[in-house]
Amino acid sequence: MIKTVGILGAGQLARMLAQAGQAMGLEFIFLDPAEDACAAEFGTHICAGWDDETALKQLAQDSDVVTFDFENVPESSASLIESLCPVYPPPRALYKSQDRLREKIMMQELDIPVAPFQPVASRPELLAAVEKIGLPCVLKTRRLGYDGKGQAVLRFQEDMERAWQQLGDSELICESFVSFQSECSIIAARGRDGQTVFWPLTHNLHRGGVLAISMVPAFGVQLQKRAEAMIQSVLDHLDYTGVLALELFLVNGELLANEFAPRVHNSGHWSIDGAHTSQFENHLRAICGLPLGDAGLSSPSVMFNLLGEMPALTRQQSADVHSNLNLHWHDYHKTPREGRKIGHVTLTTPSESELIGKAAQLASELGVAAELDFQTIMNKHRK
Ligand code: AMP
Repeated sequence: MIKTVGILGAGQLARMLAQAGQAMGLEFIFLDPAEDACAAEFGTHICAGWDDETALKQLAQDSDVVTFDFENVPESSASLIESLCPVYPPPRALYKSQDRLREKIMMQELDIPVAPFQPVASRPELLAAVEKIGLPCVLKTRRLGYDGKGQAVLRFQEDMERAWQQLGDSELICESFVSFQSECSIIAARGRDGQTVFWPLTHNLHRGGVLAISMVPAFGVQLQKRAEAMIQSVLDHLDYTGVLALELFLVNGELLANEFAPRVHNSGHWSIDGAHTSQFENHLRAICGLPLGDAGLSSPSVMFNLLGEMPALTRQQSADVHSNLNLHWHDYHKTPREGRKIGHVTLTTPSESELIGKAAQLASELGVAAELDFQTIMNKHRK
């Protein structure tokens, strides 16, 4: 029986895993170099670097199973832990997702549609890639890019030099620019026995490359089935255990894969309040060898990411907002910093029609994306 779960990383994802795990009777040990890591209050915190061998061994020895809350765990650290203790998801999933080129090649080999891409390691290769792919295109670092960082959009031939100056120190990938109608993500959990459950395809809106809003339900059965087949082939190929998220573009009615994350994902935070079983609980169930819970929708939901600092609501707004049982506030207890993900709020309602009206009201109260037409967004891709 698994009692103690070790987590590499103690950010908000680890925090929400631990919150779900407490109710399951699990205990947690975190390894994270940040002294003020926000998950630390939920267990033992080993404050050390990702490559600190003594700390990694301690984590492995004190845990029954180890997982992670971010994907840039060094390969050698994951291997060291794996030699001492079971690690889920399998580190091979980390290696694929840590490098956008390896990740895209794997998806192509699995017949998952992706935008045309080319590796780029020099100015002549950039020129050749742009000639082959055409403009506009997106130049991205192969490693360590996140939330739109390490990327440049090239619209004109003249943008090439600027992009090279900005990113040319790293190994790169050049991708065709996708004029998508929407962005969405499919999240699945796969148990040690191969049992797989899928959450509903989630509609995502980004602002400045960072996820701002996630909404469910927003897509019809056909797209759901298509997305499930795509993520299932990644899960099976990697003989995966745990939660995996696949980010997708919807373009001309077809889904194109952008990238996958071998962990719980920001676009699944709504599942804490809006699904029968959250992504956090099912991740723990999967890695502990327990049966998975129902990932179906319990309430239509809209999640707003809270960036920088928790919103300063007027006293009246605050009273209204906090007395509303359909609003679920999640404060990660992180030090406020511009652009930092410090919390989220999920609105759940008994019906979709109620959700549409209330989401627009909440968006304007929070001062985020008030221009959004939720009615159109929710009904756009339902056929
Ligand atoms: P990524 O780091 O790959 O998840 O990219 C962050 C965001 O940049 C995505 O959510 C999209 O909004 C945008 N983006 C990334 N790749 C492309 C692309 N090939 N075409 C158009 N937009 C993209």
